[in-house]
Amino acid sequence: MASKYAYNINNLKTMFERPYELRLPAVRVFGNLYFVGNQDGASWLVDTEEGLLLFDTNYPTAASLLIDSIWSLGFDPRRIIAIFHTHGHFDHFGATDLIKSLSGARTYLGIEDARMFRDRPELAMIQDSREAWLEIFEPDVEVRDGDVFTFGSTTVRAVACPGHSPGATHYFISVTDGNQSLTAGLNGGAGLNTLCVDFRRQYGVDWREDFLASIHRSLQETADIFLGNHTGQNRAQEKIQALQENPMAFVDPAEWTAFHKDLERRFLIMCAEEAEQE
Ligand SMILES: [Zn+2]
Repeated sequence: MASKYAYNINNLKTMFERPYELRLPAVRVFGNLYFVGNQDGASWLVDTEEGLLLFDTNYPTAASLLIDSIWSLGFDPRRIIAIFHTHGHFDHFGATDLIKSLSGARTYLGIEDARMFRDRPELAMIQDSREAWLEIFEPDVEVRDGDVFTFGSTTVRAVACPGHSPGATHYFISVTDGNQSLTAGLNGGAGLNTLCVDFRRQYGVDWREDFLASIHRSLQETADIFLGNHTGQNRAQEKIQALQENPMAFVDPAEWTAFHKDLERRFLIMCAEEAEQE
């Protein structure tokens, strides 16, 4: 029997076949930070003096939704200058080549996932995407732990968080609204699917120790706004609703820590449950 933590294509049936049913309105999260994702995949847009930054390009089947979301906010996707990727799985780079072809944006990926693309491309999980045409991309910038990228008055600080994939990377983004500046922390990869017994056996990899160490390191960090790379992680859908009454619905300095503590709890439960199957 498959592990209940394993990648399950049935959960993605709607995303693969009728992605438009998973549409969400694009919204301003805070100041120059915007949500441009759908009910499953999160993508985030930051408007800087130098141009637009996009974080994750979502599922390949959601590319038209992403482009529409960006336009619906009044932004031209051709103004995107940088595409940051939280990690190198197909559901985070599905529209990367498309947007790069429109805009000429530079693409950023954690250095260990760039290596994974070269050495173990099957670990990008394109074979699970149902898209025969999708290919891995060649990142322009291989991001290292501690790198800081500056775009006008906006900075993006990278913190490696290996585990879900070898090159998973958190991004801490300075976002501003008038005179107020906050830090948005985007999680690099929290799915347990690549850490469960099935995946470890199928691909002969073991990233559990890295994952736990990354959680502990994440707990040293803080953020005013917690961003997920999947929409459920930071309950973005609820917050989009709540924005109508509370323009600060996404601002919660406790959420980054609470999320990672809960992630550690869930991870350890999985390890305990699967101990008998090892
Ligand atoms: Zn992933």
